[in-house]
Amino acid sequence: MPVPALAPYDDANIFARILRGEIPCRKVFEDDHALAFHDINPQAPVHVLVIPKGAYVSWADFSANAGDAEIAGFVRAVGQVARELGLEEPGYRLLANAGIHAHQEVPHLHVHIFGGTQMGAMLPR
Ligand code: AMP
Repeated sequence: MPVPALAPYDDANIFARILRGEIPCRKVFEDDHALAFHDINPQAPVHVLVIPKGAYVSWADFSANAGDAEIAGFVRAVGQVARELGLEEPGYRLLANAGIHAHQEVPHLHVHIFGGTQMGAMLPR
């Protein structure tokens, strides 16, 4: 069920549970600000999710309420993960769903990294 863009943070969401170590993930990267792991239902040969460690629902929430170090740390983590996955060449796609129109399912900010194949059109037509 997609979540509203400005819903309050729900501590029981699946990524919060992964961050607390209550359920496992296939981790590819972790530092003070971010965690990256393989998507459980991959949509491309490489499909990794990067999440901030703080409790933020969406880009709106994160950009308004996160501190500068958290924002810098998260953005750097996204770039570092893509590099470490060897995706710089021939390229990759970043995607972040926010709210109902984008079908955001998990109400903890995340960026999808897709790679390992020639991607199709940016959006289905
Ligand atoms: P979104 O629609 O942008 O909210 O995407 C949520 C993503 O989280 C989907 O691609 C799911 O396959 C993925 N996902 C859900 N639960 C897990 C999990 N336990 N471990 C890894 N990925 C998950």
